[in-house]
Amino acid sequence: MPAKILLPRILQIGAGASAELGTILNGMGLKAPLIITDKVMVQLGYIERIKQVLNSANIIADVFDDTVPEPTVASIQAGVNKVRDGHFDCVIGFGGGSPIDSAKAIAILGYHGGQMGDYKFPRLVDELGLPIIAIPTTAGTGSEVTKVTVITDEKTDEKMMCMGTGFMPSVALVDYELSISVPPRTTADTGIDALTHAIEAYVSKKASPYTDTQALAAMRLLGPNLRKAYHDGSDNQAREKMMLGATLAGMAFSNASVALVHGMSRPIGAFYHVPHGLSNAMLLPTVTEFSIPAVPERYADCARAIGVADSNDNNDDANRKLMTELRDLNIELQVPTPKAFGIDPKHFMDNLQTMANQALASGSPDNNPSVPSAEEIIQLYKNLW
Ligand code: NAD
Repeated sequence: MPAKILLPRILQIGAGASAELGTILNGMGLKAPLIITDKVMVQLGYIERIKQVLNSANIIADVFDDTVPEPTVASIQAGVNKVRDGHFDCVIGFGGGSPIDSAKAIAILGYHGGQMGDYKFPRLVDELGLPIIAIPTTAGTGSEVTKVTVITDEKTDEKMMCMGTGFMPSVALVDYELSISVPPRTTADTGIDALTHAIEAYVSKKASPYTDTQALAAMRLLGPNLRKAYHDGSDNQAREKMMLGATLAGMAFSNASVALVHGMSRPIGAFYHVPHGLSNAMLLPTVTEFSIPAVPERYADCARAIGVADSNDNNDDANRKLMTELRDLNIELQVPTPKAFGIDPKHFMDNLQTMANQALASGSPDNNPSVPSAEEIIQLYKNLW
């Protein structure tokens, strides 16, 4: 079956890409943007700078800066109201995955109405809302090039996966200079998130030759640079490679889907407020060990692309090295276990069935090379603990 590939219409990558915003909006005839961001971006001076870039192109932007990490239905409502009551012709998601995902949701809800729950998977949201311009500041989620947004329903503690062409940004400006200020903890969490996207896209049942190319290229960039960016945030070369790697990983997984790590990660995030990248990092070694026997040759390719094995290693040796690397990475990047993170053991154990049901309902585990039953997911959560 031919692979269907969705990408932003305009993708500008490299130092200074965000300074092109005014020119690009003018070229598209867009005059009334709403910048959707968080308070950290305001405090760091990024929003003032981007408003100046727009001003010099004769564009006056309004700002909604109340987005929160891991956005919820309630956290985006004021932004939705602002779009419904205003005269905006596009939204600019500026920040990490949380503001970009908030912008995507606001672009659809503000334009078409309804509740976020109406748009969750398995519905495909292919109708277009307001044009979305995405400017990522973490290397990261890849949300700037994905047809996905993730919004938590705080009433049911469910991270709702919403996907479709309507959530694909029209423009992505990928400027690694914006990521220099990311603190080490977030550098680690977002970097492992990107690595997980690349690995899961490569082993996904929906992988295609196109997504394989993006995923392997992403792993070659992310593998050797994650530790460097974590230990020295001012390492421009490492930051640049991480940013490009995260964007390529986003292209790969948006078109090939993520798999079991993400499926099991979302319930941990929703119930216990573990940042998305961190819950992925917790799960990556355990789920990789479970999945390797189904496609050992694919995981061995990952080990070689990340740079921990080479062409002299047979698949078994490469996969042993991959497992060692993933465990070592979690130690060096100080990724806690769920217990060390402070999750209540009784609540976690009592909640396993619900988390397994949510993981399966998200659809992601179906893309895993080995599709687990609910009982196997519960056992994997226990192993993780
Ligand atoms: P985030 O956006 O939640 O940001 C984490 C923290 O880092 C925030 O406090 C933020 O203000 C800060 N930060 C961001 N950029 C910074 C910078 N340049 N300097 C200093 N601080 C900075 O984190 P994230 O990991 O980028 O995004 C996580 C969200 O993305 C989750 O909600 C997750 O579900 C979602 N996600 C979406 C997709 C997708 O395809 N849409 C994919 C993966 C994850």
